[in-house]
Amino acid sequence: MQDCIFCKIVAGEIPSVKVYEDDLVFAFMDINPVQTGHALIIPKAHAENLWEISEADLAAVHSASRKIVTAMQRALGPVSVAAVQLNGKAVNQVVMHYHLHLIPRANTEAPFKLTAWEMIPGDMEVIHKTGADIAAAID
Ligand code: 5GP
Ligand code: ZN
Repeated sequence: MQDCIFCKIVAGEIPSVKVYEDDLVFAFMDINPVQTGHALIIPKAHAENLWEISEADLAAVHSASRKIVTAMQRALGPVSVAAVQLNGKAVNQVVMHYHLHLIPRANTEAPFKLTAWEMIPGDMEVIHKTGADIAAAID
């Protein structure tokens, strides 16, 4: 897609530090790493988000992500890995081409704040209602 940074990376029009590529996916290092080793994996075909991406590309991205996290363990030593994926500007998606962040962290690195949200018990009435609404809307 014209003017999409990640389509340009796939096409080689913008340089990137590639870590993996196959027919359907491309993986490269994030230039603003949250932790050492932060990589992104994307479908080669442009799709904006989880609503748009094809089943085949979705499966390919997530299947290849396992190759990459396995390689992270081999290359970086024992790490935990956060696989994070944003859909929509309201949850801070910045690049509108589907991407899965793979963010490794060794136990010795700085605290991992990204997913350290506070556990505050929710209103069970609201939880039941929204859960039922979502369940009823599934195809
Ligand atoms: P998100 O859309 O999920 O918020 O994150 C987009 C990610 O893409 C960010 O982590 C950002 O650092 C990364 N990013 C944006 N532009 C480029 C680029 O030109 N090259 C690379 N390698 N990463 C990029
Ligand atoms: Zn794109």
